[in-house]
Amino acid sequence: MPRPISATIHLDALENNLAVIRNKVGNSKIWAVVKANAYGHGLRCIWPHLDQADGFALLDFNEAILLRKQGWQRPILLLEGFFQPEDLRIIDEYQLTTVVHSHWQLKAIEAANFSNPINIYLKLNSGMNRLGFPADQYRDVLSLARNIRQIGQITLMSHFANADKKIGVTEQLNVIDSVSQGLNISQCLANSGACLWYPQTHRDWVRTGIALYGASPSGKWEDIADVGLKAVMSLKSEIIAVQNLKAGDKIGYGSKYTASCPMRVGTVACGYADGYPRSAMTGTPVIVNGVRTQMLGAISMDMMTVDLTPCPQAQIGSPVELWGQNLPVDDVAGVPGTIGYELLCALADRVPVSVCR
Ligand SMILES: *Cc1c(COP(=O)(O)O)cnc(C)c1O
Repeated sequence: MPRPISATIHLDALENNLAVIRNKVGNSKIWAVVKANAYGHGLRCIWPHLDQADGFALLDFNEAILLRKQGWQRPILLLEGFFQPEDLRIIDEYQLTTVVHSHWQLKAIEAANFSNPINIYLKLNSGMNRLGFPADQYRDVLSLARNIRQIGQITLMSHFANADKKIGVTEQLNVIDSVSQGLNISQCLANSGACLWYPQTHRDWVRTGIALYGASPSGKWEDIADVGLKAVMSLKSEIIAVQNLKAGDKIGYGSKYTASCPMRVGTVACGYADGYPRSAMTGTPVIVNGVRTQMLGAISMDMMTVDLTPCPQAQIGSPVELWGQNLPVDDVAGVPGTIGYELLCALADRVPVSVCR
């Protein structure tokens, strides 16, 4: 028997989520964001189930090449652009659309030879101060780009810092709208949060990541509970040992939990080397035998301890859901103060992944 931990990818949930987003964004085209190995879900096995998307957005050249080799013929967007002039050969060979965020990139394009003009996403820094040309230079840069014969279509791209929060997008959207006023240019602005909560940002293309995987852009499941999104990944394991504690007994490294009365606890085959957050602690939710209970003490590399008080029937071999269709990954992430994104992306290579309908 293999170690009992495994992740399952629910393809019907993935297809459902893309349809939910499609419904939200109306006529806007959708980039399915599949960076970071499709947020930990496994790009190779899931991309065919996202083929209703209009394009795939990612940032690793190897992932782009994999999609082309497996037969994807529609657009692929490089979200961070290219990193050195030599990368332009790959962009040309595999017909990739690239973000352009710095002057050196325009110069490199101008100096290169392509079999066809390349399409670019000219990035505007509208306030996040990560990538992009400043608002007061954007129109000049656009004129430069429009005069480079190696460049085909140009799309204005920008990214929101607070589409998931009450702060919202107004301030950045004002910058974008004033820069683009009177320009005849297509636009791509919205991430998942903006797709769900700010319809005025949808424009020509949207870029949807986390919502496709059924987790919340805000890190809070309540915020998407009535949107119709479903968890795509479930992480499961089993109880591999049971301990009966007396009052005063302690659990795990650092003895961080002390039993205040006699209690039964279970040891689960899941640790931080599987991708579960090392910062998880007492109170992090877990489902054992279909009953919601909690982790106790500190997590080890390969194991964690859970409270069996609410599920007295549980024993060695009882099923454990770490996150998934019955336990939102955001609920798990919230206790150690992180977000579902981080947990999904961190799924470790040693966890076997299978797909199901
Ligand atoms: C990752 C990423 C997205 C997707 O963000 P989600 O919040 O997962 O929808 C969109 N745009 C850019 C530039 C990104 O890097």
